[in-house]
Amino acid sequence: KSGRRPLIAGNWKMNGLRSSVPVVEAIRDGLSPELTSRIDVLVCPPSTLISSCVAAVYGSAIAIGGQNLHAKASGAFTGSISAEMLADLGATYVIVGHSERRAYHHETDDGVHAKALGARRAGLCGIICVGETQEEREEGRTLDIVRAQLAIGVPKGAKASDTVIAYEPVWAIGTGLTPTPADIAEVHASLREMLGQLIGAEAAKVRILYGGSVKPGNARELMAVENVDGALVGGASLVASDFLGIAAAY
Ligand code: PEP
Repeated sequence: KSGRRPLIAGNWKMNGLRSSVPVVEAIRDGLSPELTSRIDVLVCPPSTLISSCVAAVYGSAIAIGGQNLHAKASGAFTGSISAEMLADLGATYVIVGHSERRAYHHETDDGVHAKALGARRAGLCGIICVGETQEEREEGRTLDIVRAQLAIGVPKGAKASDTVIAYEPVWAIGTGLTPTPADIAEVHASLREMLGQLIGAEAAKVRILYGGSVKPGNARELMAVENVDGALVGGASLVASDFLGIAAAY
């Protein structure tokens, strides 16, 4: 009804060795053509597995993405990976500003903005993550926080084809806790409104995912919330049957 094609995205984080590639093969084999005619499915493995995962999903409807990037295209940045390098491997998406990057690698909203520009430069779709901490929620600052993260992070001229937003409350990631559907609806509506201020009519086309403890058992309820256009899934994306169960919410 929204006209936006749902996206179910998996974030493997720092999990998976070459022996984990069969997980993406099982996801590939478990998705019906009927489902993939209606939704997009993305797996973001660690960088070390991008090539093998791209090969594993070749010819299928699954997209492969990175979990992070350096904003610059190349240079003396030991250990970093650019959007061009991810694209070169066959990745088509990249997660930008995940809360774990913000918390453990001191990523700022300005840094997120630069990385989102880097993703666009290389033709990748950037999944820009926003979300409040437990403390910020308790202080009633949730909307202020996520709107500011969006306002700084989203580059001018962002389009639905190069930008996805993920609302991920920090306190809901990996904890088994989730906001209520009403809380999610409030945040997503506010993000959509803020996007409208930033990019105008294009805002209606941009997908806004919910992330944080999405499981097969709660996916249907969470994905039914207005303005929720899919999920960013951490833990449950490591188990093919769980990830497929979440995709089946559509
Ligand atoms: C995430 O890391 O993006 C995430 C949502 O994790 P989990 O699903 O494990 O809460």
